[in-house]
Parts: sequence; C-alpha cells; structure tokens
Amino acid sequence: MNASARIALVTGASRGIGRAAAVALAAAGHHMVLVARTVGGLEETDDLVRAAGGSATLVPLDLKDFAALDRLGASLFERWGRLDAFFANAGVLGALSPLAHLDPKLLDELVAVNITANARLIRSLDPLLRASEAGRVLFMSSSVARKPRAFWGGYAMSKAALESLTLTYAAECASTNVRVNLLNPGGTRTAMRAKAMPGEDPSILPTPEDMAPLIVQMLSAGWEKNGELVNYREWQKTD
Ligand code: NDP
Repeated sequence: MNASARIALVTGASRGIGRAAAVALAAAGHHMVLVARTVGGLEETDDLVRAAGGSATLVPLDLKDFAALDRLGASLFERWGRLDAFFANAGVLGALSPLAHLDPKLLDELVAVNITANARLIRSLDPLLRASEAGRVLFMSSSVARKPRAFWGGYAMSKAALESLTLTYAAECASTNVRVNLLNPGGTRTAMRAKAMPGEDPSILPTPEDMAPLIVQMLSAGWEKNGELVNYREWQKTD
C-alpha cells in the first residue's frame, strides 16, 4: 500500500453499488477497508480492486453485530490512527408490503442494518475521521425517505431516520475537517432493485459503475459541501 494513500471504508462492499464504489476509490488511490457478510463477494471485490492497481483489507462481519463495529474502530485506530473516507452504503430493503403486514423480523432487521448500525459506526469511527486532514462521510438514502409510497413503509422510515442521523452528524461536524453528506442514487441496476421491481427491465437503469465517479468525488478531500443530499440523476444532468 502507498504510504500516502487515503484510507477508505465501504460497507456493503460484496456487491452492487458498494463494490463499484470500492473499485473506483481504489483506482483513485485509496487503500480500501471492505465490509460485508459474504466472504466470496468480498474476495471478488478484492480481485477487482487489485486489477485496478489498488489494495484492500477485507472485514467480513454482520452489521447487526454491534460489538464488532466497536472492535472495527479500535482495529483501524491501531493500524492507521485515522480514517479518511467512510462510505456507509450497506442497506436492506426488507419486503414491500402493507405496514399492517410487515414481518416483525424484517422490521427489526431494517432498523438494525439501515439505522442502528450506522449510528454505531459513527460512534466507532468518529475519532478516526476527526484525525484525518479531510474526513469524508457519505450515507445512502432513497427518494422514499422524503416521499412516502404505499408498501415501502419499512424501508422508507429507515431511510428517513438515516437522513436525520446524517444531517445531525453533519451539523455536529460543521466546525471540523469532517464533511458528511447524503446520496440518493435513484433506481440502480443491483440485486436490491431487482428484488423491489422484479418486472422491470434492468437495462434501462444506470449501473453502479455509472455512479461510482460521483461517489469518489463526494468522498474526496476537495468536496467541501456538508449536510447536503445529492441526487445522482440531477448530478448526471449537470456533470
Ligand atoms: P445490494 O442489495 O446489491 O447490496 C447491499 C450490500 O449491503 C451488500 O454488499 C450486502 O452484503 C450488504 N449488507 C446487507 N446487510 C448486511 C449486514 N447485515 N451486514 C453487513 N453487510 C450487509 O444493494 P445496492 O447496492 O442496490 O444498495 C446500496 C445502497 O444504496 C443501500 O443502502 C440501498 O438502500 C441504497 N439504494 C439503492 C437503490 C437501488 O436502486 N439499487 C436506490 C436507492 C437507494 P452481504 O449480503 O454480503 O452482507
């Protein structure tokens, strides 16, 4: 690993948007810390990172294991003493259903993965981000966070809470070197989207690789905006 490389952590790096972002961040010179449950998926991402000339540290864990998130922060501190970029990308959809029929186990998972794990990661990683010359944090939202839609209630309420968490953290970081923002990718060609919209032709959707350059930009030291929601579709029109 290049000694001057920025250190970037991506959750949900085993597939989808997290994988594409990890490869693009590695190509842009970051050493990658890759988090997800599926070891095979992390290894495939690692292969792509290496092919892009980068390096990665694989951290297979379940984001519902909150003690492991505490240990992750401690390990990163021991190894590098800082974290420069944190892409809080992992998320679950749950199931699209009327709220009255929402499976309690899926509701618990939505809260644990989409909300609590991110709050616990902020707690664990905040000292490392503040130790960076330019700590950058990006959380993933969704249109339904602000525009509720029938049958999307569990996922929508989790993303609304995540937006609140993100904007609060951004306000708390305003006078520091840390910048905290939100990305709404819009419908993207991934496993999650296929689960939500099984009848849709995926070829009409942007790919994770299409939006990776925006993610790299929002996690770079040059990105000074704080507490903003960037919509990929709007950025695409102006870029
Ligand atoms: P995918 O379902 O393709 O990937 C989700 C990632 O999250 C996987 O790497 C998965 O890894 C990880 N993950 C899920 N649960 C856990 C867990 N308990 N512990 C650790 N990792 C976990 O999703 P996308 O790439 O489509 O979505 C990425 C983000 O973008 C999400 O936050 C999503 O809500 C958001 N988004 C996506 C849209 C789309 O159209 N695709 C639209 C709007 C927002 P593993 O299973 O290996 O643990």
